[in-house]
Amino acid sequence: MKIIINRVPPEGLCLKEEVDPSELDLDTELIKFRAPLKLEAKVERITNALSVDLKIEGKFSAECSRCLEEFEREFEKTVRLNYPLEGKDNFIDLNPEIREEIILDYPIKPLCGPECKGICLKCGKNKNEGGCHCGST
Ligand SMILES: [Zn+2]
Ligand SMILES: [Zn+2]
Repeated sequence: MKIIINRVPPEGLCLKEEVDPSELDLDTELIKFRAPLKLEAKVERITNALSVDLKIEGKFSAECSRCLEEFEREFEKTVRLNYPLEGKDNFIDLNPEIREEIILDYPIKPLCGPECKGICLKCGKNKNEGGCHCGST
């Protein structure tokens, strides 16, 4: 998402954009964004700076660290960013900050749910799907 500085009117500006997650290089071993991210920015000009209220919405898939099943989770975050205008080009690229804000919120150990029972250490069966028969419960 880019903001062209001299197109921000005194009363501010509202921008909406859908971004392909691959543009932001968001994927890790555990977490993949597959659908476009929705960005909504309220841009205001304050003395020598732009203030941006940004809402990021999306959905990622992750592998549960206990049962190894893939699950999907909504991502939503609101942040306020400030960009000093002195010595800037005529546009601001928000993508580096957007990427950082998203990655900061990644779960360290993704869980499909707080109650996930994990897999049986002996036979590898997913215990969320019922007990296994190897007798190690
Ligand atoms: Zn799980
Ligand atoms: Zn088992």
